[in-house]
Amino acid sequence: MKSEQAILIEKGTIITVDDGGTVLNPGYVQVYGDRIAVVGAGEAPQELRAASQTILDASHMAVFPGMVNGHSHLFQTFIRGLADDKPLLDWLKSCIWRVAEHMSREECTLAGMVGLMENLRSGATAVIDHQYIHADPTNDDGVIHAAEETGVRLLLARGWADMNYHPVLMESDERILSEITRLYETYHGNANGRIRCEFGPLIPWGCTDEMMLRTHTLARTWGVGTHIHVAETKGEVEMNLAARGKRHIEWLADLGILGPDVQLVHSVWLDDHELDLVAERSAVVVHCPVSNMYLASGSARIRDMLRRGIHVALASDGPGSNNNQDMMEVLKTTALLAKVSTLDAMAVVPQDVLRMACRGGALAFGQPEWIGSLETGKKADIVLVDMDSPFAMPVHNAVSALVYNLSYGAVDTVLVDGQILMKDKKILVVDEKEVLKEARLVCKKLFERAGVQDGLLQMEKGDR
Ligand SMILES: [Zn+2]
Repeated sequence: MKSEQAILIEKGTIITVDDGGTVLNPGYVQVYGDRIAVVGAGEAPQELRAASQTILDASHMAVFPGMVNGHSHLFQTFIRGLADDKPLLDWLKSCIWRVAEHMSREECTLAGMVGLMENLRSGATAVIDHQYIHADPTNDDGVIHAAEETGVRLLLARGWADMNYHPVLMESDERILSEITRLYETYHGNANGRIRCEFGPLIPWGCTDEMMLRTHTLARTWGVGTHIHVAETKGEVEMNLAARGKRHIEWLADLGILGPDVQLVHSVWLDDHELDLVAERSAVVVHCPVSNMYLASGSARIRDMLRRGIHVALASDGPGSNNNQDMMEVLKTTALLAKVSTLDAMAVVPQDVLRMACRGGALAFGQPEWIGSLETGKKADIVLVDMDSPFAMPVHNAVSALVYNLSYGAVDTVLVDGQILMKDKKILVVDEKEVLKEARLVCKKLFERAGVQDGLLQMEKGDR
C-alpha cells in the first residue's frame, strides 16, 4: 500500500465556501493523502503538527478551495492575440479555424501544458476543456497528457460538430461516437479520478438534432455530462429561431436534454422563459464574463439567475477570446459586469462570486461531492493566496480581498489531490521555463504551416 503523507496548513484565514460560508481566522487544514482530513479554527493542535510530515505556514494568507475554470479551449493558448477586436463569427473564421486545422497532438499537448500552468497560477485546480479540434484525431490524447503531467484536474468535454461548421473541423457521426467511446474507455477516471470525459456538442447551429439525441443518450448511460455553448450572441439565437423556430434553451428542453448534467456555456441571451426552464431543470450555467466583454457578445443575467436559484459556474473561456485564463481576473469581472449591467451595486457580492467559482464549478465539473469546498472528506484541492500585499492592505474581509484586490500574482501555493503542485509561487511539477521555450519553437513551426508569418494582418490580406 502506498504510504500517505499528511500536510498541515496552519495560521491562515480559512475560507471554506461550505454551505454556511464559514471563515476561520485563524484556522488550519490537515490533508491526508488526497483528502482533507481536518478543518479547524484557531491554532493547530500539537498532535496534528506532530503527525504531519509537511507544515505550510499560511500566515497572512487566504486558504480556499481550488477554483474550477468551467470552460476553456486549451488549444487556443497558441492562438491568443492573433485576432483581437472582432465579433465572434469573424473571429472564428479569420483566426481560430485557420490555425486550428493545422494543430496536431504535439501542439495540443504543449498548448495544454502552458494553458494548465496558467490555470494553476491563477488558482484554478480543475479545468473543463471543450476540445473540438480533431484534424489530428489524437489531439484529445495530447490535452489529457498535459493534465497528467501538470497534475491539474481535467474534464475533457469532447467537442463535435456535424453540420454548418468549418469542413476540416466537422466529423461524421460514426467517428464522433467511436472517438468519444475510445476516450471514455481509455481515460475516464484515470489518475486517481482526476481525468474525466464527457460530450461537448459545440454550438446549436453546428449540431443536428439526431446527433444531440444520440450523444446525450450515451452520456446519460455513462453517467457523464453534456457541455455546450448556448446563446453567446444575439445573432446565434436568431439563427436558431429561423432554422428551428425555437430559442436555444427551448430547443434543448424540447429535445429532452436540459437537466442537471448539462452545462450551458455563456447563456448571455436568455429570456425569462428560458431562465425559468434552466432553473426548473437544474442545468448549470457557465459564465464567461471576460470573453463576453472581449467579443462584445453581451452580459449574462447573473443577478436574475442567482435570484431564481440557478447554479452558475465561472470560466475564462478559451484564451483566444480573453486573452488569458486568469480566474482571479474572472472573479472581479463577474462582480463588476453584474453591477454595471444592472446599475445595482449589490447585484453580485464577493461571497456570491467565490461560491460560483468553487461550488458552481464543482457542479459543472460533475463532482460536487468531491470538490468545491474545504470540508472533511473532500479532495484536497486547495489554494493559498498571499494577502500580505500593498494591493490588499488592510484586509477587513478576506473574501472581498480575493475578489476585488488581489490578482494571479498573489497565488502562492496550490494543491491538487493532496499533491503540492506549486509552492512559494514556483511550479514544482514541471520545468516551466523549459515548457515555454519548447512551446515557442513549436508555435513558430505551426504558424509557418498555417501561413501566419507576421501575425494576423498578413493573414487578412490573403485568402480568407
Ligand atoms: Zn468557448
